[in-house]
Amino acid sequence: MSDDIVELTTKHTYGTWRAQRGWKPIHVTRAEGCAFWDASGKRYLDLSSQLICSNLGHQNEAVIEAICAQARQLAYISPAHTCEVRARVAQKLLEVMPKGLDKFFFATSGTEANEAAFKMARLYTGKHKIIARYTSYHGSTAGSVAATGDFRRWFIEPAGKIPGVVFGPEVNCYRCPLGRSHPECGVACADYLAYMIDHEENVAAVIVEPVVGTNGVLIPPADYLPKIAEVARKRGVLLIADEVMSGWGRTGKWFAVDHWGVVPDILTTAKGVTNAAAPLGVVATSRAIADYFDDNMFAHGHTYEAHPLTLAPVIAAIDEYRRLDLLDRATKMGDVVGAKLRALKEKHPSIGDVRGIGLFWAVELVKDRATKEPFNVPQDKAARRPLVVDAVVAEAAKRGVSLMGWVSHLLVAPPLIISEAEIDEGIAALDAALDVADQRLSG
Ligand code: PLP
Repeated sequence: MSDDIVELTTKHTYGTWRAQRGWKPIHVTRAEGCAFWDASGKRYLDLSSQLICSNLGHQNEAVIEAICAQARQLAYISPAHTCEVRARVAQKLLEVMPKGLDKFFFATSGTEANEAAFKMARLYTGKHKIIARYTSYHGSTAGSVAATGDFRRWFIEPAGKIPGVVFGPEVNCYRCPLGRSHPECGVACADYLAYMIDHEENVAAVIVEPVVGTNGVLIPPADYLPKIAEVARKRGVLLIADEVMSGWGRTGKWFAVDHWGVVPDILTTAKGVTNAAAPLGVVATSRAIADYFDDNMFAHGHTYEAHPLTLAPVIAAIDEYRRLDLLDRATKMGDVVGAKLRALKEKHPSIGDVRGIGLFWAVELVKDRATKEPFNVPQDKAARRPLVVDAVVAEAAKRGVSLMGWVSHLLVAPPLIISEAEIDEGIAALDAALDVADQRLSG
């Protein structure tokens, strides 16, 4: 039975961001809390919340029930009409969004949210260019992948890349793109973005992941985001915060920008907003942007925009984050995870850096701690060469622990409900799996 499912899947459906040959997905039959099970009954502890999205844990009952109730009541209505769930979700979002962001566009993914944000920024400012940063991911369709700094953009270049995106340096205090160190640098990477705006005409917006996600949980120093916000504001350029991954308690706050008291002009989000149980993307905008579209064409929309089934779980999800105290819990359990990962660093010479905030952690693997040379670079992943992180992930999976590997780092971002016993279980498997990387060290 399971072979059938895998064969039908791989023969007739596409596996994403990979060559199709060799794809052998796990046939998942059940998921609950912090674990999922395959068709043979094997249990996996989920240390990356799938794609860092199942923040409340799998099959949260309140969320599932809300979707079922909405399906029975009103499964679809044109976005030109309204329905209660649309209005109530907007009202509820006001409770958690950074103050001042009070009008929303509802799409069906993080990618679509960013596409909408770019279009809105361009319409509002009358300018065209978007400044993004190299170490970033903003989505997979034309505009959002063009604004993606990482190697996933390379596949559509040069012919497919829409014009109008300029890339600047990311903030990465482990491997500074400007070769500086904080605090002596005075966040020179933020100053560089100011320099870019001043030398590029026609800049509509700067987009940042306030804490870079897939590309390695890069946490900015405290003075970075406030400086970027100020730089952008002074120049009439909008700041877009992409909180698709960093939102919804992941970092210990509703949104990562809340750590630094920064209110962007536009905030995009998805994933944890519905606990990934329904495909919702949200664009939250400032009142100034909202007012602009009162008398100017909001030239955007989809059949599935503000879809009742995607909105249905939002209120239940927000109530669950609160009932389970998951923002504080992410901070507390994050400290536990951080201490254990740092202990692994003492033990495993292949670990170059461990960094995190809340329950959002990266373990960076290097050939040599002194030179920080990574085992693999993005070109290896793009060219489908074997990656050391993939071998570590496979070893952890054998031991019943699922986590995400990316180029030369591992992402540890479990559901925010994870217990200490589950953390111990995950760390023990990771500990054993990291021997695989240690064995690849040259010395
Ligand atoms: N932005 C960020 C920061 C993301 O991490 C992702 C997905 O991982 C996206 C955008 C794209 O979201 P989606 O996969 O829902 O299209």
